[in-house]
Amino acid sequence: MENVVLHVDDVHKSFAGLHALSDVDLDVREGETHAIIGPNGAGKSTLLNVCVGRLKPDRGAVVFDGDVLTGKQPHEISQLGVARVFQTPEVFPDLSVLENVMIPALSHRDGAFKLNAYYRISGEKVLRQEAESTLEDVGLAGQFQDLASAMSRGDKRRLELAMCLIQKPRLLLLDEPTAGMARHDTNATIDLLKKIKAGGMTKVIIEHDMHVVFSLADRISVLAGGRIIAQGTPEEIKENPKVKEAYLGEEQV
Ligand code: ADP
Ligand code: MG
Repeated sequence: MENVVLHVDDVHKSFAGLHALSDVDLDVREGETHAIIGPNGAGKSTLLNVCVGRLKPDRGAVVFDGDVLTGKQPHEISQLGVARVFQTPEVFPDLSVLENVMIPALSHRDGAFKLNAYYRISGEKVLRQEAESTLEDVGLAGQFQDLASAMSRGDKRRLELAMCLIQKPRLLLLDEPTAGMARHDTNATIDLLKKIKAGGMTKVIIEHDMHVVFSLADRISVLAGGRIIAQGTPEEIKENPKVKEAYLGEEQV
């Protein structure tokens, strides 16, 4: 039996009578890349927001490596090693690219910085180097001093990814990480996510672009109308008639 790190158990979430999520069960195994796909409005972002504590489910629970996340605050969930990239990039617009990446690292290592002046300065130096190398990994070398507000949407997404990676999370949740990117940037992101996968980090990726999904996913769950209608390997999902039906009028699976 594979080790399940994230367990979504019977989650239900309504917005003013609209069932955004109904009876959702999902297991994510250690080290896998698990894609969640589905038509617009299927409930994908709602599910991710429930997992990271931004939304409270009406029923059910989310468990991460033995810890019940439901009822915890987003920062508590982040401290447990869960990082996320939202559908709309959230960066600090008035700070530089480098400063943006240093912030999450600093807040995770706050204790060390309180020790004394020496550790403050030497620690900050190490942190700066780490931030620079993380930015190089996501393809933002040479833009360290740029103001985050001046970046393109695609670059902001890479910056947000760097802000997650520097926390060295155990679980990374990505909501449409290639949205707003040109094809060559999308391919660079696929390569980067493959590299992260080789490092063994568990990932949940919500994605509309089927090229991205089939390049990265070990397993896929399909949401439609707030319900999981299919789960399986990419090959199984491609052949599933329910999935084809759910996507009628949308892009081809
Ligand atoms: P997806 O990410 O799959 O496109 P969402 O999870 O964003 O879908 O939305 C699922 C459904 O819930 C949609 O019908 C959407 O309009 C609704 N919804 C999402 N968030 C809210 C909210 N905060 N208030 C009211 N309705 C919402
Ligand atoms: Mg969404």
